[in-house]
Amino acid sequence: MTPAPALQSYIGGRPVPSTSGETFDDIDPATGAVICRVEQAGAAEVDAAVAAAQAGFALWSARTGAERGRILNRAALLLRARNREIAEIEVRDTGKPIQEALAVDVLSGADCIEYYAGLAASLHGEHYQLKGAFAYTRREPLGVCVGIGAWNYPVQIACWKSAPALACGNAMIFKPAELTPRSAAVLAQIYAEAGVPAGVFNVVQGDARTGQLLVRHPGVAKVSLTGEVGTGKRVMADAAGTLKHVTMELGGKSPLVIFADADLDNAVAAAMMGNFYTQGEVCTNGTRVFVHESIHDAFLERLVARTRGMKIGDPLDPETQVGALISPEHMQRVLGYIERGKRAARLVCGGTRVTDGDLARGCFVEPTIFADCTDDIELVREEIFGPVMAVLKFSGEDEVIRRANATPFGLAAGVFTRDLARAHRVVAQLQAGICWINNYNITPVEIPFGGAKQSGLGRENGLVTIEHYTQLKSVYVEMGDVACPY
Ligand code: NDP
Repeated sequence: MTPAPALQSYIGGRPVPSTSGETFDDIDPATGAVICRVEQAGAAEVDAAVAAAQAGFALWSARTGAERGRILNRAALLLRARNREIAEIEVRDTGKPIQEALAVDVLSGADCIEYYAGLAASLHGEHYQLKGAFAYTRREPLGVCVGIGAWNYPVQIACWKSAPALACGNAMIFKPAELTPRSAAVLAQIYAEAGVPAGVFNVVQGDARTGQLLVRHPGVAKVSLTGEVGTGKRVMADAAGTLKHVTMELGGKSPLVIFADADLDNAVAAAMMGNFYTQGEVCTNGTRVFVHESIHDAFLERLVARTRGMKIGDPLDPETQVGALISPEHMQRVLGYIERGKRAARLVCGGTRVTDGDLARGCFVEPTIFADCTDDIELVREEIFGPVMAVLKFSGEDEVIRRANATPFGLAAGVFTRDLARAHRVVAQLQAGICWINNYNITPVEIPFGGAKQSGLGRENGLVTIEHYTQLKSVYVEMGDVACPY
């Protein structure tokens, strides 16, 4: 069989062969099959991408916001029309279930492009009346922005970064995670077909070395990263060399607090969604589930019964609810946490790799629940990024707030209670960038998304992101004579 052509970076409106001489494989984690080879971009490609983006920026920033919005709206329509094709790419690259990829990944990316397309025409500065003068501000794009993605929501992350960047008149160079290189390349075609000029959206393929070249490049004005906390620290340090703007969407170990008066079935559903969706590979997951002692046993019984009914299987099967983890290395890491967890807490569900039939070729792990967890154990403190839930008991409101906050992370939090005053009182004290009351992991494009503490800096989505992709220029206009004392 003829091998599929190698995937190349997309620079200045066309695929560009790499001069680095290095390639890596894109592998389906559900089967171990090689999907395609990918050419690793080196310094020459990164320089070319920055030059192309600078040229693209000159053209694109000269368009009116309304023109940019019209083009981006076309891109959103094209993206929606290719939902199934791109969803299947995501499923084969990530191992996630097709039912999720069809319902969320591509469509939430399209929602984001539409949202910022709608805002593009309304970007504006402010006017100030002064004595004998006036002043105004211009809201201007930053220039060349770099987006660096994680592997769990590849196309959604590419849209969450590129849509606001482009709406504001910037150009973007996007580096997808090495494990999920393909959907960003399709997004680049879609932007081009919609009328985005060559050079405005570029995709550079490669690993952390390519990312580092981009982050250190003096021609880049801003870096927006989605990744681990450790990567965030390294990227910030590298970006500091030329004082770039940064947005950091990083990891978490978020609390989900279930009070005694909660609707138990809804709380169970949210705990499952907030731990096992995308095999638990979701940054905001509520992996520390604090349950009031008076309902703890009833909650656990229902939770375990429903979790045992989840269907693990071929990610392309529409019935599958739990797919494959991203890679054999990551699966071993998750299984390591589970093995050590068995010595520290009580395993009540799952806990093993699934190797029935064809699943033996892939990275499948059962949804796993540990009860009787204490705050100090590894699986309560560290981000596992797999289908592993830790259930903890609590007895009082102040106690649970203190325990929920006792982590360097601060991405998300959830509260289940029918007592509205308590719900608002508690979320006001939780140290998290995004909180849900009586639900979990809902991220509509209208609301700002991002982390507190070491879970991040800046926000994606919502109006506020316009501020992260623009800068203000203040202009003073004299209406009289220059008051000169000389
Ligand atoms: P990583 O931090 O390993 O990688 C993220 C991206 O950064 C990848 O593209 C990676 O390249 C690149 N990278 C790694 N090192 C550097 C560097 N020194 N300079 C520049 N780029 C670099 O994260 P994962 O991909 O493993 O994703 C999982 C993590 O992402 C979890 O911690 C999760 O919580 C977090 N995440 C956060 C989200 C949020 O919005 N807060 C959303 C989704 C995930 P390479 O291709 O080599 O991996």
